Amino acid sequence: MSTSSDANGPPFVVVDGDPGSRIVIHVPHASTIVPGRVRQRIELSDEELAQELVLMTDAATDRIAREASDLSEMRPWLFINQRSRLVVDPERFPDPVDEVMAAPDIGMGAVYERTAHGGELREDDAAHRDELITAFFDPYAGALTDFVEGRLEADGQVTIVDLHSYPAAELPYERHVHADAPRPACCIGTDERHTPPELADAVQAVFRGLGETMVNQPFAGTYVPLRFYGTDLRVRSVMVELRRDTYQESPTDVARVAGMLARLCDVLDAGRPSTPGGRD
Ligand SMILES: [Zn+2]
Repeated sequence: MSTSSDANGPPFVVVDGDPGSRIVIHVPHASTIVPGRVRQRIELSDEELAQELVLMTDAATDRIAREASDLSEMRPWLFINQRSRLVVDPERFPDPVDEVMAAPDIGMGAVYERTAHGGELREDDAAHRDELITAFFDPYAGALTDFVEGRLEADGQVTIVDLHSYPAAELPYERHVHADAPRPACCIGTDERHTPPELADAVQAVFRGLGETMVNQPFAGTYVPLRFYGTDLRVRSVMVELRRDTYQESPTDVARVAGMLARLCDVLDAGRPSTPGGRD
């Protein structure tokens, strides 16, 4: 569990990549940090909250991204969320009207009201929801959008690799959207406009070594900041969802998966000029 000093740390970190790299690895769900004032409004005991964090946190995806960055020929840029998705989920639409996961029986819009098992996580309180959106969601979305904009200005194209993981066994909340869908070792989420086929193919080729790969099963779609969504196709994006049992058994497995992600970066940045300040 997080300590109070963690909760005082920055809400997200950017790890600089090689100026020649077009890749941004986004890690939205790796943190277990829930600041005290947010914790107070969560209707779970400490033990229940710890359990919920185990189920919902994309454990070690930040480590995988950092290790991949060390292993790749040209360092990708990293944007890592340092707050739990139980604070706000940066990948959901902030307005519940737009967000299918915000439906009352699921209760997982940008501010979750229900647990993975459908229990109460927070009271239905619009004022508190707005407060969390203002304090956490908006600054995060703004910073990530500006960061992508900056990379676009620098290089003319950005490829977001949206890195997640998911449990081997289906959680009850998932049943509302994709009951009994297959659960491959690697699920590749795509968007019809922002994911060119060769991008999904590259992910598939690299992660085939992990086991079965599938596109948009069980989870569909990938993250694109709203400012660019549907309009600026220089922003390419693909979601990589790793089934957790493929890397959670031992540290060696994390290194193996990180090696695959590094290879993906190498393939996607192949032929890019290495610039001063980058490694070689
Ligand atoms: Zn995730």
